[in-house]
Amino acid sequence: MIKEIQARVMLSHVRQPDTWFGLKYNMNIYRGCQHQCIYCDSRSECYQIENFSDVLVKVNAIDLLKRELPSKRVRGMIGTGSMSDPYTPVEKTYNLTGQALELFALYRFPVHIITKSDLVLKDLDTLVAINQTRANVTFTVTAADDDLAAKVEPGAPRPSARFEAMAKLAAHGIHTGVTLMPILPFIEDSKENIGEILRQASDSGVTYVIASLGMTLRDRQRAYYYDKLDRLFPGVRDRYRARYGDRYSCPANEVGELWEHFHALCEAYKLSTRIDSYQPGGPVFDQLPLFE
Ligand code: SF4
Repeated sequence: MIKEIQARVMLSHVRQPDTWFGLKYNMNIYRGCQHQCIYCDSRSECYQIENFSDVLVKVNAIDLLKRELPSKRVRGMIGTGSMSDPYTPVEKTYNLTGQALELFALYRFPVHIITKSDLVLKDLDTLVAINQTRANVTFTVTAADDDLAAKVEPGAPRPSARFEAMAKLAAHGIHTGVTLMPILPFIEDSKENIGEILRQASDSGVTYVIASLGMTLRDRQRAYYYDKLDRLFPGVRDRYRARYGDRYSCPANEVGELWEHFHALCEAYKLSTRIDSYQPGGPVFDQLPLFE
C-alpha cells in the first residue's frame, strides 16, 4: 500500500566520522521499500516501521529541502539509500528523489546514492550536473545470477540491469561503485558468486567495491528472513540455527578465505576497496540561488 505522509525534517546529521561512506547528512524520502529483499535490516524493531510492505511517501520533502539546504553551514556529502531505496518503483510516480537531486545540483551539494535500481538513469543529466561537485552512485549487488537475485530481492531490478546502469553512469564520469553486502551465508557466500560480481563490476567500469562478507540478523528481520528461507531454500534455516544461534553478526562460511579471494580479485581488477573521501566545500550561504 502507498501512503502519503508529511515529514518534519529531511536531512539528518550523520555521526562523524563516517568511515564507510564519508557522509555528512542522510536523507530518506520514502519509508518502506517495494524491493522487498528477504534479508532487509529495515524490518528490525529499532527502526519502528510497523509494516515494511507499505511505502510511506514524504510528499512535502521538496518544500522541506528548500528550507533546510540554505541553512546548512557545511556543504557536506548527502547520502540516500540506507533505510529504503530512493529508486523504489513508486519514484516513477512521484519523482521526489529526482526533484531532490535537482535541488542538490542547484545548491552544489555532493551526493552519494545507494540503490539496486537502474531507475536512477532517469536522473542521469542531474547527476552529471551534481558531479561538478561530486556524485557517487553505488549499486548493491549480492548475487551475480539474475535467478538467485529474483528469489532474495524479488522486487528489485535484475543484477544484469544494474550492471548495465553502472556502465552508463561510469561512461558519463559519475563515481560508480558496488556495495557487496550483505552476502547471505549458505546462499551467496561462494567464491564463484563473489568472483562473478567483481568481474562484471570491473567490466562495467566501476572503480570501487565496499564489502561486508556476511549478514546481520535480529528480531523481526530474522523472523521474516527465516520464514522466507523455509519457502525458498528448504533446510537452510536449520543450518543458520546450528551455526549462529541468536547471534546478531553472521559471517560468511570460510570467511577468511573469502576475504583473501575478494582482495586478490580487487587487486587484479584494480578496484579500490574504499571510497575516496570528499572534502566538504565552503558554507552554503555564498552565492545562494533564489527561490520564490
Ligand atoms: S532495496 Fe534496500 S531498503 Fe529496499 S528492501 Fe532491499 S535492502 Fe531493504
